[in-house]
Amino acid sequence: MAAADVGDDVYGDDPTVNRLEATLAEMLGKDAAVFMPTGTQSNLAAVLAHCGRGEEVLVGDNYHIMCHEAAGASVLGGIALQPLATTPSGRVTPDTVTHAIKPDDAHCPMTRLLALENTVGGKAVPLAEMRAASDAAKAHGLAVHLDGARFFNAVTALSCAPHALAEIADTISVCLSKGLGCPVGSVLVGPGDIIRRARRNRKLLGGGLRQAGVLAAAGLFALENTVSRLTDDHERASALANALGAMGGGEVTHHTNMVFFTPARCDHHKLHDTLARFGIKAGAQSPTMRLVVHRDIDDIALNAAIAAFEQALDAAQMPS
Ligand SMILES: *Cc1c(COP(=O)(O)O)cnc(C)c1O
Repeated sequence: MAAADVGDDVYGDDPTVNRLEATLAEMLGKDAAVFMPTGTQSNLAAVLAHCGRGEEVLVGDNYHIMCHEAAGASVLGGIALQPLATTPSGRVTPDTVTHAIKPDDAHCPMTRLLALENTVGGKAVPLAEMRAASDAAKAHGLAVHLDGARFFNAVTALSCAPHALAEIADTISVCLSKGLGCPVGSVLVGPGDIIRRARRNRKLLGGGLRQAGVLAAAGLFALENTVSRLTDDHERASALANALGAMGGGEVTHHTNMVFFTPARCDHHKLHDTLARFGIKAGAQSPTMRLVVHRDIDDIALNAAIAAFEQALDAAQMPS
C-alpha cells in the first residue's frame, strides 16, 4: 500500500485504482468497474443507477440492502424497497419474484430491479437457484443486481468460476474489506453505461476519493493472495462448529466462514464476558451468537477460541 502508484481517481487517473477496476471487471466477465469506499455505497450507487424516483427494487426481506443500509434507496432516491419472502436458506424463488412484479398501473410503483445476495448470512446460494430468480426477473424486463459483499466466499463454496456467478446479474458489488482482509473498499462491476452512472452517483454521495491507489493496492493484493485461502476459513469454521457441537452446550450450525451458536441454559452476558477475558470477540446477538473466521484466525487462534469456549461455557452454565 505504501509503495502504490497513485493519481487522482476523481479524474480517473489513479493507475492502481484503474488496475483494480480492470482486474475485477475481467474476473467477473463484465465491461467496467468502479472502486467504492463501502459496500453500502456500492449497493446504493448501483440501485440509483438502475432505478429512478417512483420505481421499485425487489429485495430479499432479510438482505443487507433491505435491513442494514438505512433505506438509502428510499431516502435519497425516492425508490421503493419491496421485500420478498426468503426461504430458510436465504433464497428468493422465481415465483416470489414473478408475483411481486407490479402491473403497468398508475396505482403502483414501476418495478425495475431485482436485488439478490450471495452469500446470505454465510449461506452460499447455488447457481441454479440464483439463475432461476434472475431469469424470472429478466423475463419481465427487470435488471438484476447482486450484493456480493462475500462474493468470493460464495464462489469458493460453490466451486465455480467468478464469472459463472457474476453471469446471473447485470451489476455485482464485491467487498474487499470482509473475508479478503482489506482495510477499506468495495468494487461495483457491470456494463459500461451503468457503471458510468454509478460513478456519477459515487461523486453525488460524497464517495469520490483522490489518491485512492493506497487502498486499491490492498485490493489487488487480496485478489492475488487471499481469495485462494478462503477455503482455509471455511475449513476452520467447520472445525470450530464441530468442536462446539462436541461440547454439547447448545445448537451449532455453520456456513462458509460463519458459525452460529445458540447456547442452552446459559447466561449470555457471562459467556461473552468470559470469552472477552480470553481475548475472544463473538457477535453479541442473542440467543444465537455469530462467530466469523477470517484470515487473521490461524490454527493457534482457532484452538485458543475452542479452549476459551470450553471454560466459558462451564462458567456461564445455569442450573437446568
Ligand atoms: C458488509 C456487507 C455489505 C456492505 O457493508 P459496508 O460495511 O458498507 O462495506 C453489504 N451487504 C452485505 C451482505 C454485507 O455483509
